[in-house]
Amino acid sequence: MRGQDACPDPLYDPRRDDARRRRDRAGDDEGPPGMKAARQVADCLVIGAGPAGLLAALYLARFRRRVVAVDAGDGRALGIPRLNNCPGFPDGISGRELVDRLRRQATHYGADIVPGHATAIARQGTGFAVTCGGTPLPARRLLLATGVTDFLPDLPRIKENIARRSLCLCPVCDGYEASGKRIGVFGQDAHALREAIFLRSFSSEVFLLVQDPAALSDASRAQAAQAGIGICEDIRAIHSGHSGYVARLLDGREIAFGVIYAALGYAVRAELAAALDIRRDDKGHIRVDAHQQTNARGVYAAGDVVHSLNQIAVALGQAATAATAIHNDLRQEDEGSSAAQPGTETGITGG
Ligand SMILES: Cc1cc2nc3c(=O)[nH]c(=O)nc-3n(C[C@H](O)[C@H](O)[C@H](O)COP(=O)(O)OP(=O)(O)OC[C@H]3O[C@@H](n4cnc5c(N)ncnc54)[C@H](O)[C@@H]3O)c2cc1C
Repeated sequence: MRGQDACPDPLYDPRRDDARRRRDRAGDDEGPPGMKAARQVADCLVIGAGPAGLLAALYLARFRRRVVAVDAGDGRALGIPRLNNCPGFPDGISGRELVDRLRRQATHYGADIVPGHATAIARQGTGFAVTCGGTPLPARRLLLATGVTDFLPDLPRIKENIARRSLCLCPVCDGYEASGKRIGVFGQDAHALREAIFLRSFSSEVFLLVQDPAALSDASRAQAAQAGIGICEDIRAIHSGHSGYVARLLDGREIAFGVIYAALGYAVRAELAAALDIRRDDKGHIRVDAHQQTNARGVYAAGDVVHSLNQIAVALGQAATAATAIHNDLRQEDEGSSAAQPGTETGITGG
């Protein structure tokens, strides 16, 4: 089971990496994979094992830190049918395959990844305790890498259409693949209009699919017209056809779209931040400094949960920065210079 309260789950991730096998043989990790490690004090507990959390876990494990990542198993990356802008994969790679590779790489160096849904974080002594399925997990530092959840439109067969790229959520990710297609942008606010304008550089046929015509201001209509964007506001229904979505208009006409972009925004998964008064922006993103540290000392954040371009390359860069800062911070503490500021001022900054 990979449910929300399954932390840690003895059946989870049967692949055992070399590092863990060695520990098992030495009798250091009796019981299910990751269980004992998760209950011991981790140098860093990573909440969320998507690309950001996994790369941070890899870095920390390679810094020889005891790192545990808890993961609810429902990240955005898992739904990417094919990534064509991921560094190092000229033929593309699915999001699931990338996550799987990152997971293998992190566990290979000794990171423990356990399934579960973290429901609370709190300070405990000089560190933290994370509540996860009733099991309190202690850690010296925390990294929040919990991502965001997209708001999806009320359209039929969403999963299937995302898989075949008839429904897309991110023009930066796959505008290229929409080149020359008839594109519908589902939404009517300023954000939807911005997406439509962005997509105009890939196609001459871009339409705003408006559900509430009253919500589209005259200024937005003028801006759309100037950018060569059509407005479909007399939609009766949208159904899923053989090769994508088809909108049926009130007058009976049908318009087939090569791709529809949902421009409905997302919810930031940062509820945990409230407990430590971690500052967030007006959309709910966690605010961080240049080392990815939040205003709560010892708590870092990386990936989509932080305001940034929601892209894997960005999430990975933030994760590398956060992991290095956490390691340097712990080194200072271990060396008894905890009065010094964390981050890289007194540490190395990389090659
Ligand atoms: C359809 C689609 C296509 C995309 N295509 C591209 C693309 O082509 N290129 C690109 O660069 N980006 C693409 N993206 C964006 C990309 O998926 C994200 O930028 C990336 O996944 C961010 O990584 P992350 O680790 O921050 O978050 P996520 O991948 O969302 O991972 C967050 C993890 O945290 C876990 N989690 C959340 N809350 C908790 C909790 N309380 N306790 C435990 N675990 C928790 C989740 O289960 C999840 O595993 C696409 C996104 C979508 C939806």
